[in-house]
Amino acid sequence: MSFVYERPRTAEDLGKLLASHGQRACVLAGGTDLLVALRAGHARPEVVADVKAIEELRELRHEADGRLFIGAAVTINRIVDDARLRAMHGGLTGGAGAIATFAIRNRATVVGNVSNASPCADTVPALALLGAEVELRSATGSRRIGLRDYIVGVKQTARRADEFAAGIHVPAQGKGTRTWFCKRQRVRGHDLALANAALIHDPEHKKLRVAVGSCSPRPVVVELDDMFDKPDAEEAAKRAMASIAPISDVRASAEYRTDMTGMLVRRLFDALRG
Ligand SMILES: Cc1cc2nc3c(=O)[nH]c(=O)nc-3n(C[C@H](O)[C@H](O)[C@H](O)COP(=O)(O)OP(=O)(O)OC[C@H]3O[C@@H](n4cnc5c(N)ncnc54)[C@H](O)[C@@H]3O)c2cc1C
Repeated sequence: MSFVYERPRTAEDLGKLLASHGQRACVLAGGTDLLVALRAGHARPEVVADVKAIEELRELRHEADGRLFIGAAVTINRIVDDARLRAMHGGLTGGAGAIATFAIRNRATVVGNVSNASPCADTVPALALLGAEVELRSATGSRRIGLRDYIVGVKQTARRADEFAAGIHVPAQGKGTRTWFCKRQRVRGHDLALANAALIHDPEHKKLRVAVGSCSPRPVVVELDDMFDKPDAEEAAKRAMASIAPISDVRASAEYRTDMTGMLVRRLFDALRG
């Protein structure tokens, strides 16, 4: 395996690199997924462009009105350690904290977790519920795309080859909104999710939804707004189980994933009840 390693200092330079190399280039953040893919020969780029030296992409910005920006070089541990985020978005910090080990979370980024487009990514369910958008930039401009449209399939995103994800925008939430995250894995300690799920409860807009991961190629969001005034865990579990399309693989059978999805939804409703 041989490639040219580039470490641009500005987003403009990264845009130019991708414009000239296109499909032959890969964007590198923490490398905790990409290096595995390179070693396995699943990716064979001629150029690897590292985002970590770009100062503006390290920004984790809380706006006064509650909006949030997570730059492409923001590590998972910065999310876990942010006290304001823990208070505001427990589902996101819970998902982030469930990823791998401390050492990996110190390298891995949220944008990398999302851009890897693995169905079991632990930050995706909460971000999907929060209405997050991915900001894509290129040498010629920028655009924003909803997270659920960004992930188009397993390991596939809507990113063009000349674009990079500059960061994730999370809109302000209704007053009193809370989120929770839950994960089922084979072993205690660090392991990928057999199924994961998050719940959002927004009293201002009477919004009640769950998102389920690891059980379909793209994140699944189940709307439960109709039961906002009378949450029914059994009915919510039933609807979530009917919304997913899990596969059987080395980690679990489709049937087990379906059962675990029901269990996770019931647990999230327990958390909602306090
Ligand atoms: C031992 C181990 C355990 C793990 N456990 C978990 C787990 O429990 N839960 C979980 O969710 N994940 C887990 N992971 C996966 C991984 O750590 C996460 O997905 C991580 O968040 C990826 O972020 P990264 O910065 O390392 O991305 P990278 O590896 O740098 O990149 C991942 C992919 O995203 C692309 N990419 C990265 N940044 C950008 C950008 N700015 N613009 C466009 N494309 C970009 C890359 O080209 C690549 O395709 C584990 C990994 C390992 C090695």
